[in-house]
Amino acid sequence: MFHRFLVFSTIVVSFGFSACLFQPNISELDSNELSEINEEFPIDGFGYASDRGILVRGQVRANQSLYVLLSEMGISQQVIREVTKELKQSVGFRFLKQNQTYYRYRHHNTGQSISYAPILIIMESNVRYIKIDLTDGILVQASAKPIEIRFRQVEGIIESSLYESLISQGHSAGVGMELSELFAWQVDFFRLYRGDKYRAIYEEFISEGEVVGVGRVLAAEFVHQNRPYKAFYYEDGLQQGYYDADGNGIQKALLKAPFMYNHRISSSFNYNRFHPVLKQRIPHTGTDYAAPLGTPVIAVGDGEIIESRYRGVNGNIVQIQHNGMYKTAYLHLNGFGPGIKKGVQVKQGQVIGYVGRTGRVTGVHLHYTLYKNNVPVNSVTVDLPSQESLAASARGAFYLEVKKYSYLLGQGGLVLVTNTDLNDVGKNS
Ligand SMILES: [Zn+2]
Repeated sequence: MFHRFLVFSTIVVSFGFSACLFQPNISELDSNELSEINEEFPIDGFGYASDRGILVRGQVRANQSLYVLLSEMGISQQVIREVTKELKQSVGFRFLKQNQTYYRYRHHNTGQSISYAPILIIMESNVRYIKIDLTDGILVQASAKPIEIRFRQVEGIIESSLYESLISQGHSAGVGMELSELFAWQVDFFRLYRGDKYRAIYEEFISEGEVVGVGRVLAAEFVHQNRPYKAFYYEDGLQQGYYDADGNGIQKALLKAPFMYNHRISSSFNYNRFHPVLKQRIPHTGTDYAAPLGTPVIAVGDGEIIESRYRGVNGNIVQIQHNGMYKTAYLHLNGFGPGIKKGVQVKQGQVIGYVGRTGRVTGVHLHYTLYKNNVPVNSVTVDLPSQESLAASARGAFYLEVKKYSYLLGQGGLVLVTNTDLNDVGKNS
């Protein structure tokens, strides 16, 4: 059962067709077919081969500028200025709008952090887009090309890793990235248990018959250590996000750890630690993570950089004030992320520095401290507040979605979708 999946629909969502085209194209693929496709690097709807990375879709958040988007991709300030000028001159583009769709190419999982190919696609309508390609100089181009989105279901039991479970069934590693981001508050994806279970319905991007990327997870269930966690995507004009079956937000304001992928705790938060360098009992009011020199360190939440400098035993230190209650500190950094300076606003997941061995240390590691009301707290065990729950006015529509997806998730490998369902599912362009 777990080795089967059905592609249960193929529809054109984002590009050019106001009405959904429902094709009852239920065909069965096997993992061999898909791995062959991957090796051939198919060209996607934007003209790029899949070796550029995994095509990921984003939506412009409030106050998210082109500058922020490009900075996240590691593009320098100077280049961003030139791009902005070029955009204005050659295609008349000035500002990103809130909720505007964009695509980027996330590099295949290197085991350490998120990084992107220097390519940004900004959708201007369902068909028209602007391509910014900084691979070799500055290319700015207005273009149009359809991409299809289809919905797939996957389910599995963790034997060795989520990644292997997905790949062995012919699904993209990108699904795992989406799931680990979406359940980042409930499940420690670095400590999954054998026997943990998952199922999900997600979007897959198709161009000219080839799988070119992974979109959003629409509904998912993850059973970790026998505790089930559910997530349902919901959006309307007022809010969007992932909620549990009761409409409570499942994503919290801060990530559990300042790394995107693998990390290992080398020394826990402990008020009675015997300090290896000073040979005396000194409270260890933070968590040490062992990671290779240069591993990117990410902001655990949105906030303002309140310190970014070399400071004595701390070495290179970055501190972020997230809100009135929470502050985080990152010590012994090898260096700082692009544009990281005191007073700068950062977004969750943004690279703020790199693991190093500056200051008083015995070896390469990151010392990370979460402060609650300026008191260090154990970031690993602390219970963080939830994202906002759904507004009462959205509950009715949301519960219908929950009912529909719960039913679909419960169908195992076989999912049937009616025309009505597709209209609902496909409203996210
Ligand atoms: Zn430490």
